[in-house]
Order: sequence, then C-alpha cells, then structure tokens
Amino acid sequence: MPVPVSQAWTVATYVLKQKLAGRQRYPLVLMLEPLFRCNLACAGCGKIQYPAHILKDHLTPEECFRAAEECGAPTVAIPGGEPLLHPQMPEIVAGLVARRKYVYMCTNALLLKEKLDQFTPSKYLSFSVHMDGQREHHDFAVCREGGYDIALEAICLAVARGFRVTTNTTLFAGAEARGVRAFFDDMMDVGVEGMMLSPGYAYDKAPDQNSFLGRESTRQLFRTILSNRNPKWRFNMSPLFLEFLMGRLQFECKPWGMPTYNLFGWQKPCYLLQDGYADTFEELMAATEWRRYGHASGNPKCANCMVHSGFEASSVDATFDSLRGFWDTVKATFRSTYRDEDAQRALDAAPPADGKLVQIQSTGQREEEVNV
Ligand code: SF4
Repeated sequence: MPVPVSQAWTVATYVLKQKLAGRQRYPLVLMLEPLFRCNLACAGCGKIQYPAHILKDHLTPEECFRAAEECGAPTVAIPGGEPLLHPQMPEIVAGLVARRKYVYMCTNALLLKEKLDQFTPSKYLSFSVHMDGQREHHDFAVCREGGYDIALEAICLAVARGFRVTTNTTLFAGAEARGVRAFFDDMMDVGVEGMMLSPGYAYDKAPDQNSFLGRESTRQLFRTILSNRNPKWRFNMSPLFLEFLMGRLQFECKPWGMPTYNLFGWQKPCYLLQDGYADTFEELMAATEWRRYGHASGNPKCANCMVHSGFEASSVDATFDSLRGFWDTVKATFRSTYRDEDAQRALDAAPPADGKLVQIQSTGQREEEVNV
C-alpha cells in the first residue's frame, strides 16, 4: 500500500464523490507555495529566481487556510522555497491538520532537526524530504557539501519521534540507475514510509538547461530503475504513475489535479508554467484555457513534461475511471517486482554508481539573491 489505509480511503472516497457528481475537472492535491525563499540554490530549480523583495515575502496562515478551503482537495503539498524558513510554518501546518488535510511539507531538511519540536506527529502530517540520491550525488545535485548528512540525521530523528517521513527525488539527464537503486535501499533501511519520484521539468529559468530529460529517455531511465524491483521498496505515490514513468501506461496531463497557490494567486495552468494568475480557485478553473496545455495540445512547453504535478492526478483518476484502471492499479501495487530482462540488461550495462547523479553545475550566481 503506497499510503496508510486511512489516507487511501479519504482520497478514494473523495475521487468517487467527484465522479458521482460528474465533475470532469477536480483538484486532488493543493500545491501551496507560501514562499519562494530557500537556503539552497539547486541548479535545476526554477522556483527561486525572483527579486529579493519577492523572496522576502510570504503568505500568511490565513491566506493558506483560505486557499485550502477554496480548493477543497484532501491533500496539501507545501513546496517552496524552503517551508521551514517561513516564521509561521508550524501554525500553517497545525491549521491544515485541524482541517483534516493530509499535509506533505516538502523540505530540504537543513533546518528540520532544530525545528522539529515545533511540530506534532500526526497521521495527517508527513515531512517530504528532498533527497536526490546517495551522499555524493545528493550534495552535488543541491550544490551543498554536507547536505545529505544533515538531511539524513533529521530523517532519522523525525522517524524516531514518530513522524511520517517520505523522500522526494527528482531525476535529471545523467542519473545513474544503479546509484538510484542503491539510494532506495538506503532510504528503506532508515525507515522512511515511502519514496516519491519525478523527472525534472525543463524550467526556462533554471540555470542549467542541458540536463533535462526528454520523454523517451525518461521512460528508459525509469524502466531501468524500477524494473526488477527490490520488494522492500515502498513508493508514496500512485502505482500507475510509476507505470507511466516506465512507459507501460500512457496518460494525458491533468494540470487542474494539482493546482498551485502562491504569492501571486492561483497559477495558470499548473505548478510548472506561469501563464497568468487567477484571484480565486473558481476563476482558475473557469478561466484557464485548458485545451492549450498537455502533450496532445502541441504546446512546446508541455512536449517533454512527465512531471508528477501534471500526471499523478491523471494516474489516480485512471484508477477510479474504469474496472480496467482499478485492475491495473491492483496489479501495479501487488505485482510490481516482475522480471524485465531488457531492463536488467540495461542496468548491467550501466556504469557503476560512482559518478554524479546529475550533470549540472552550480553557477553560484543566485547566492546573493537567496541570502535575504
Ligand atoms: S504537461 Fe506539464 S507543463 Fe504542460 S500543463 Fe501539464 S503539467 Fe504543466
């Protein structure tokens, strides 16, 4: 089971209610970005290239609660920026938990150890720790030596104190399949509940534009990594999304499934693109020209996208859309360790896990922008 039963039940009943109500477009996860400020400057990130006055600003708890209520999704992910830099983050999390939202607070965990006392373990709260691979790989990806060890210590502490802890990993061109698989083993050994994966999105603003994956190379990479799985690996995401990443299923993106609210309002059309903003969630759903987005639209910005914020909602929707979708989910959940000889050959031919996880370089140019 990718998530605890109570959470799976909440999401399942929510989706079924949407379907019974005949809603074609419904939100599944609110992507709540209370700030863009960060204490890292990863070269593949497209979220922190703002001027200092925006990086200094943040949403109030009331603005966060209003967004969650407007949207109505059962799950709230809090990316950023680094949420732990927000001075009222414990209040925001507590308020969302009180509203029975399943909260995934996405953090690089550099501050988690010192801030952990400000949070209370709950089935509604998960720390989703950004980990891009084993020690050398992670430190290179986030352009911060020692970052892996700090995050790992915080993960162990949070697990020991009874918090739900997951990891989120973004893969770029040059990812080493063997190293990623070894990283999965490591995370299971330290007791994380599950892992989340996604290919990176080719942000216009990211300093390194050469390390993003095309769709076919994404499928090849994920098939090599996820085939012939270690049975102890647990993934905290839709099993059909993993099948999609491996090229075993095809989905069209549903950008409304994970709507984004941040300092500028409701972002059109998705977490990745910025084609304007709406003042309300209702306006976002009604005024966005959804036909202009997704792979089938021919929009070049969508051509290589296979990112979870566009396609995981499609995967969850597919589970409840037909008996076939439900059966595919059962198979992907309980029979995911099947042999794939082609993938095994690709893995055997892969270089040993001794290089860099991503071939991106820190430009260092954003240091002064983020140190506000
Ligand atoms: S394909 Fe990707 S970039 Fe395009 S709308 Fe969907 S999620 Fe956004």
